[in-house]
Amino acid sequence: MASASSKIDTYQNFIGNQWVSSSDGSTFADEDPSLRGSTLALFPSSTVQDIAKAIDVADAAFKSWKRTAVEERQRHATRFLDLLEGATDALASIVARENGKTVREARAEIHSALSEGRHHVAQVSRFYGQSLPAGTQGCIGWEQFHPLGVVAIISPWNFPMNVMCRKALPALLTGNTIVFKPATFTPWSGVTMAKLFESAGFPEGVFNCVAGLGSTIGNALVDDPRVKAISFTGSTYVGKKIHERAAKNLTRTQLELGGKNALIIMPDADLTAAVNAAITAGFACAGQWCTSTSRVLVHRDVHREVCDRLAARCEQMRVGDPEDEKTDMGPVAGTDQFTSISKAIETGLSEGARMLTGGPGKGDLERGYFIRPTVFDNVVPDHTIFREEIFGPVLAVIPAKDFDDALRIANGTEFGLTGAVYSKNPQKIARAAEEFHVDNLYLNRKCTGAMVGAHPFGGFNMSGTASQAGRQDYLLMFLQGQATA
Ligand code: NAP
Ligand code: MG
Repeated sequence: MASASSKIDTYQNFIGNQWVSSSDGSTFADEDPSLRGSTLALFPSSTVQDIAKAIDVADAAFKSWKRTAVEERQRHATRFLDLLEGATDALASIVARENGKTVREARAEIHSALSEGRHHVAQVSRFYGQSLPAGTQGCIGWEQFHPLGVVAIISPWNFPMNVMCRKALPALLTGNTIVFKPATFTPWSGVTMAKLFESAGFPEGVFNCVAGLGSTIGNALVDDPRVKAISFTGSTYVGKKIHERAAKNLTRTQLELGGKNALIIMPDADLTAAVNAAITAGFACAGQWCTSTSRVLVHRDVHREVCDRLAARCEQMRVGDPEDEKTDMGPVAGTDQFTSISKAIETGLSEGARMLTGGPGKGDLERGYFIRPTVFDNVVPDHTIFREEIFGPVLAVIPAKDFDDALRIANGTEFGLTGAVYSKNPQKIARAAEEFHVDNLYLNRKCTGAMVGAHPFGGFNMSGTASQAGRQDYLLMFLQGQATA
């Protein structure tokens, strides 16, 4: 998989169960975000020819993989998950190094991949079809499910192992083959996953991994008519572009996009729990997860107290080496992230919001892409930091007059991914369940990621598309129903 001719390893693509360089031999460097200018390893900067080759072999492999018994596919997937479980610590260290999240967060990511993956292995056998009223006397109809073909998986860097597993295992279990493009910030996690698929014994061409820049190879993957579904997680901007291009071939898309998630705190809430929730959901993974809290809507009666508590908690947080078990927050994922988050902070200040604490790291933290946990107060809906996803460790606090005002402000966004409400009042809780327009709502609980086994995930409005009636069923996404009489 890697050649170590110098001190820096060079990794390859995995196409048709062969490890190969990009067709023109070019590579790109994976930087350790804890150390500016460093190179962890080199990865293929793939070309459109590499993508075409991967689609060729995935398309050829589909002919036999689709006929493989479900039990056989389950055995392969289980072997993969067992390998993943056995290597958790080593894999967590790779994620911490190249993404910058803490090693504890990286282990939690792998645990999520395992529980979601084992859930999908168990669930795949429920797609056995059903009998249908055929409409004509003496005629029996039935429904069955067919896999689609080649599935393109385009994943982000923020959960480089979990997000790809969440897409790849359901697609493989249902009989599809895969061309996977990892994000440029996290190619090491991507090829490491490919290595596990190889070790799990998937047949030639069933799983392929092609690293490279989305801007160079993304269109070739999306435009190819042999690709029958595109499972994408990333920004709303790129997701919309993929959706538009995919429409030309009517290719099925699954889009999990951005968020601007709000947490509402009422005066009757357990304030300690509510502040804990804002800190944990706001700053885990340095705020770089789609479901993280980024707006805190606080009833004006407790606004001052909540701001003081948030700022005090932030100042206690240990920011530093992600591989140190005692670190609370590592660096952001890389130079682009550092630049865009720093710019959002500057915009917040120039538009009149008040920074209570935080900002880009100083002193020793300047060696990497560190941003301290940042809290803005006096944010209003006109501010850019109220509207736009920052995708970093920045909380915007907005005072609200009452619960109605808080709900109105919370819903005043183009997104609709997650939300949380802290109140002991059952009427308010019931109203939130009815009127807070998000697909994962947490009541007196902090926002976390997808709920395993719960289908809604993908979001309202610009947060994404779900496969059917808001039910993001990962298995059904990769199947086509057929009625036969
Ligand atoms: P991104 O910039 O949209 O990139 C996502 C993936 O798309 C990367 O692999 C990227 O490759 C690729 N890409 C870029 N341009 C492309 C093109 N023209 N055609 C095809 N692929 C292309 O997003 P990100 O910055 O990696 O991730 C952060 C975003 O993901 C945030 O908005 C976050 O909210 C969202 N997210 C959503 C969920 C969810 O479930 N809703 C979960 C996690 C993250 P390169 O890396 O090479 O550019
Ligand atoms: Mg990197």
